[in-house]
Amino acid sequence: MKVSVDQNLCIGCETCPVICPEIFAMYPNSNFAYALIEEVPAELEDCAREACRTCPVEAIIIEED
Ligand code: SF4
Repeated sequence: MKVSVDQNLCIGCETCPVICPEIFAMYPNSNFAYALIEEVPAELEDCAREACRTCPVEAIIIEED
């Protein structure tokens, strides 16, 4: 699974780093999240999907293998 954040959509709500801090973080001094890792290890896939479902603007893009 691959994950990324569409920074044109992200509104900086800071939800995804709370749900899944192993994968998502906020850029310092900005209102955008980014993915710390592109390739999601199997044990973090559920976490990534939950963050994707929870994002209010559907900015988290998941590509299943
Ligand atoms: S949950 Fe969505 S809108 Fe909120 S910080 Fe993450 S990517 Fe941005």
